[in-house]
Amino acid sequence: MAMYKYGNLLVHSQDAAFDSIHNPGAPTPHSGIYRCTACGDEVASNAGNPLPPQNHRQHQPAQGAIRWQLLVYAQQQQ
Ligand SMILES: [Zn+2]
Repeated sequence: MAMYKYGNLLVHSQDAAFDSIHNPGAPTPHSGIYRCTACGDEVASNAGNPLPPQNHRQHQPAQGAIRWQLLVYAQQQQ
């Protein structure tokens, strides 16, 4: 599970970007930390780069397919 130390540097959000589920290898929609909904593994990925493919970590058959969900949305200054 992702950790942080200084909660005053993070903000809670209801942005719909957190609700989308993405396939392995799909373009990363927003820079940030993504979590596999099946096994809980977490990765950092930059916008436009492919999300990690099927072999990011071996799943047990009962875990099902790798699916990435945005966990922490990086806010880049304009
Ligand atoms: Zn996984």
